[in-house]
Amino acid sequence: MSQEVRGIIARSKGTPVSTETIVIPEPGPDDVVVAIQACGVCHTDLHYREGGINDEFPFLLGHEAAGIVETIGDGVTHVAVGDFVILNWRAVCGECRACRRGEAQYCFDTHNASQKMTLTDGTELSPALGIGAFCEKTLVHQGQCTKVDPAAPASVAGLLGCGVMAGIGAAINTGGVRHGHSVAVFGCGGVGDAAIAGSKLAGASTIIAVDIDDRKLEWAQEFGATHVCNSATTDPVEFIRSVTDGNGADVCIEAIGHPEVYKQCFEARDLAGTVVLVGVPNPEMTVELPFIEIFGRGGALKSSWYGDCLPERDFPMLIDLYLQGRLDLGRFVSETIGLSDVEQAFHNMEQGEVLRSVVVL
Ligand SMILES: [Zn+2]
Ligand SMILES: [Zn+2]
Repeated sequence: MSQEVRGIIARSKGTPVSTETIVIPEPGPDDVVVAIQACGVCHTDLHYREGGINDEFPFLLGHEAAGIVETIGDGVTHVAVGDFVILNWRAVCGECRACRRGEAQYCFDTHNASQKMTLTDGTELSPALGIGAFCEKTLVHQGQCTKVDPAAPASVAGLLGCGVMAGIGAAINTGGVRHGHSVAVFGCGGVGDAAIAGSKLAGASTIIAVDIDDRKLEWAQEFGATHVCNSATTDPVEFIRSVTDGNGADVCIEAIGHPEVYKQCFEARDLAGTVVLVGVPNPEMTVELPFIEIFGRGGALKSSWYGDCLPERDFPMLIDLYLQGRLDLGRFVSETIGLSDVEQAFHNMEQGEVLRSVVVL
């Protein structure tokens, strides 16, 4: 039977979001209805509302969520009713060319629910990143549900569904940060701070945080930065070299998505080091680099989508580390809010006042 719930919709480009009645259809064979307990507010939700992702309005926003499996389709074996799950936007297919060569983190054909959620007039909704979790319940594919230890609060667990996983994975999975490495992280919002936390987990000995906001640099130190550089007043390339014996960092992580910052990352990197781009550029941006330096410095220039994560491998492990007190996921939650506060949360995010606002249902 279909059911009606409340959810947050972006109806058209740039207009404030609204609370609407959403119709959740009966789940198809591989679909699951999840009762959402918490959902973080991510920059990508704002990008959807601004029309920066695509024009498929109206969007059902929210994608960084955790909740309880409520109803399952006939063919669902991956989760059971009552399971505590984190939702993911990388439900790997197992059959595309990336999956077949054993690199499912690059899966080119990830699964989503087989049916559309709608408004009460039948208008089909586009769920953000195939999830749509600023909503009392949502419909997803079973592979989008990753079961984790229910001892973790939903407000904390849900963060692994997007931004925090993107940052931790940018350091560990994409950047290959290991014990003894030096790491520089440019941009200390939620994703950058997660990259710092991930670098600390991996045993990096030098972790340099770069930002233009002293308050964010203080936060970065709480997550494990050993050095901080305010790049509004200090040249970050010179600073990074000065604290790495003149060499530069082994891994430089760009968590802004800006050409000038990317260049700084490129220049602040040691020979044979790795640059990881996890910040999202806009389509108009271009970057110019000395070609001979790209060759001469060796190493790797990489991009990190969703931290190159495999949800089934990474979410339960990171929740276990959280429960053991080794990863302070709770520090990312700046405020908990209600469904109707999402518009205000976008404003707070744009002002740089929060790491994460989390909707709690
Ligand atoms: Zn695949
Ligand atoms: Zn996100």
